[in-house]
Amino acid sequence: MLIFCGNKILLRDKNYSFDDDGYISNFEVINRSSDLPEAWQNLTSWVNVRDIKTLPEGTELTGLRELWHIAGDKAFSEASGALQFASWFRNVHYCSHCGGKIKPRKNDFGRECESCGAVFYAPISPAVITAVENNGKLLLAHNTAWPDDRYRPGERLEEAVEREINEEVNISVKNIKYFGSQTWPFPNSLMLGFTAEYESGCIAPDGGEISKAGFFTPDEINNMNIPDKASIARKLIDSFLAKHN
Ligand SMILES: [Zn+2]
Repeated sequence: MLIFCGNKILLRDKNYSFDDDGYISNFEVINRSSDLPEAWQNLTSWVNVRDIKTLPEGTELTGLRELWHIAGDKAFSEASGALQFASWFRNVHYCSHCGGKIKPRKNDFGRECESCGAVFYAPISPAVITAVENNGKLLLAHNTAWPDDRYRPGERLEEAVEREINEEVNISVKNIKYFGSQTWPFPNSLMLGFTAEYESGCIAPDGGEISKAGFFTPDEINNMNIPDKASIARKLIDSFLAKHN
């Protein structure tokens, strides 16, 4: 059972999972997954608690990035899934069509309106992130990484990759390939990583989202401040560096 206070997770002696149900009596519970229908019990269980005025001894509230540092990939992905469900149950209570109350469904992980029957699922916002290579160099923006680029409804993912790169740095790319994905609960992104090769154009940062950008060699990148190992951005960079070692 994971205990969330807003977007923070409670740790006790650096442990993020609580076995004893009794421990929760220390807190004021808003809602909890154990009250949901049976099918939901297959998911990681969670409890939303109200602001904790005094933390019990040995406990701390921490963000999910910090949790990754403490407990690694598996814990991060478990907690990020649970947090996205927990946030949805903490923040959303009514139907966006008619204002009726929504209740959890019995046969899937959705919720439906008690009045009009509309069905809802936990929101996920896809975002694309792409490592662009050019003759053994890697495109980095802000000298560090890339922004996560919002997917637009109706686009193929490859189109989102092409459009975003073109908008941000004014170049065209080819050989777009899927790399991998990562759930990124800040608040509910699904990061879709791609690799691509430079095709044409001169790098011209858009000046807004991207202030500086360029292609860098592995040696140059090794001397930069690169993103946290928890991020897919870093996994893309590491994969590039491994290939060019
Ligand atoms: Zn409704």
